[in-house]
Amino acid sequence: MTIPYSRQTITTVDIKTVTNVLSSGWLTTGPLVSRFEQKVAKLVGAKYAVAVANGTAALHIACLALGIKPKDEVITVPYTFAATSNCVLYCSGTPIFVDIDPPTLCIDITKIENKINKRTVGIIAVDFAGHAAPWQELKKIAKKHNLWLMDDAAHSFGGSYKGKPIGTQADLTCFSFHPVKTITTGEGGMVVTNNHQLYQRLIRLRDHGIKRFKNRRWYYEMRELGFNYRLTEIQSALGLAQLKHLDKFLKTRRKLAERYLRKLSNLPYLTLPIDNQESAWHLFALRIDFRKIKKTKLQLFKVMKKNGINLQVHYIPTHLHPYYRQRFGYKRGDFPISEMVYDQEVSLPLYPTLTLAEQDAVIRLLKEFLCH
Ligand SMILES: *Cc1c(COP(=O)(O)O)cnc(C)c1O
Repeated sequence: MTIPYSRQTITTVDIKTVTNVLSSGWLTTGPLVSRFEQKVAKLVGAKYAVAVANGTAALHIACLALGIKPKDEVITVPYTFAATSNCVLYCSGTPIFVDIDPPTLCIDITKIENKINKRTVGIIAVDFAGHAAPWQELKKIAKKHNLWLMDDAAHSFGGSYKGKPIGTQADLTCFSFHPVKTITTGEGGMVVTNNHQLYQRLIRLRDHGIKRFKNRRWYYEMRELGFNYRLTEIQSALGLAQLKHLDKFLKTRRKLAERYLRKLSNLPYLTLPIDNQESAWHLFALRIDFRKIKKTKLQLFKVMKKNGINLQVHYIPTHLHPYYRQRFGYKRGDFPISEMVYDQEVSLPLYPTLTLAEQDAVIRLLKEFLCH
């Protein structure tokens, strides 16, 4: 038995729900897609939701709907999955990286304003590991400089910020339903918004840029260059079934995270994530000062692996990937906080079916590694 850093939780009811769809007569874009969209919109407190094929497609059509053009600059973080800034490149815009704030691992609010110029059009912030970005401060900056805000909420579905669910903090919020995320549809994603104009644009971009008309029979118009980013009925059925487990998933993740926080407190050279009741706890991302303990991350990975435990690192900073280095000339030293965190970060196993005995094994091995 191996313990992964994350995995999906699928019940027999989920399986039944999905197989039922196969004999329903609809396989793609039908009533379940709409129902899934409505349920998610209601849950996150947004007026509109557009289901798409994956989280990256959500980010892509969100960028297109906001009208990013060549030469436009978009402020975002390098400490995230590459899709966060890739979506700006898809639209021929330029991502401008701003380093992160070490305790939260979210965008550093104090470093944004000196990157804003007349080409800046918006900010994409990430709710890292489920911990919400500083939306109140981001809104102030966006208002002052007339910028749009986008939430890469791939980690924070089900989380909240100052008592409000994640979903309406930015102009557009993008979720992912990849198997390691809070709920899954296999692959899947969703964009939510309160803006009707953006909503209509998103609907069109998901479906080849086509506008359809009520009562016009065979007639439709392709009005812009869109994509086939549709989610299927099969996936939406799984999404609807998974939504029923959401509260339980979140509670279990929180309970396990709190248990890690409690049992790993006061250990030398260890920095734990902030104890945040509102986090969706997508990851348990801790930091170890490997230099001080004179051991390497690779040694930790090997010890864990020998005991059947797979760790993960989130993330290799985007600017250090060969593509970004070659295209933009980035190098080590450009975003020192992201690089320092990358060197120290380890994600411990965290998912709803992780047992307490399994978690205890992870804790015991980690303590042995740190203290011997
Ligand atoms: C998972 C993830 C994405 C992309 O989602 P997919 O559904 O895998 O395309 C984007 N941003 C972040 C921060 C993610 O973790």
